[in-house]
Amino acid sequence: MDTFELAPSAHATRLFNGADLSNWTTRDGQPAGWKVADEVMHVVPKTGDIMSRQRFNDFYMHLEFRCPDMPEASGQAKGNSGVFLQGRYEIQVLDSYGLDIPGMGDCGAIYNQCAPLVNACKPPTEWQSYDVFFRGPRDGDAGPRLTVLQNGQVIHNNVELPGVTGAAIDEAIDEAGPLLLQDHGDLVCYRNIWVEELALVGSDTYEPR
Ligand code: MG
Repeated sequence: MDTFELAPSAHATRLFNGADLSNWTTRDGQPAGWKVADEVMHVVPKTGDIMSRQRFNDFYMHLEFRCPDMPEASGQAKGNSGVFLQGRYEIQVLDSYGLDIPGMGDCGAIYNQCAPLVNACKPPTEWQSYDVFFRGPRDGDAGPRLTVLQNGQVIHNNVELPGVTGAAIDEAIDEAGPLLLQDHGDLVCYRNIWVEELALVGSDTYEPR
């Protein structure tokens, strides 16, 4: 399955309309400092992370990202950004193309908690996709459950997180949270960002309607 350029589902909220950052703010609620060009959102280094005005509980999220080509850089200095689910759990964005065994800081990792199952990365300057199925913590859980696809490959299979990752907006794990994108100083781009909220439970009706 390739989810590249996937159209939003019927009930999805498009968080980036390709034209402006009206749905986004900085962490402290100021206007987002990133720029939009050619229907793509570009990190402007040192303007800070941006987060959606809308907050979500359980959801399905799709987005696409592109890392710059930084041949002289390595490790965490190579095309770093991040996608924070509910503002609390970072899925790493990094140029990890070609690594045999990605670790807990590489692209697709849930930062410092879960390494991706496989290296699904495309080369820098190519567009890549993340699709995330997010189930928030239920009573007593330490963290949410995630299933993540990168470029259509499963990289996390219903993992239960032990808690928030570093640089989370807060530790209020039972509350809805925004989608947050990280400014780590590198020229990463994003596009086609949408979220479909999921009902916390299904109907208890038995009789077909
Ligand atoms: Mg990062």
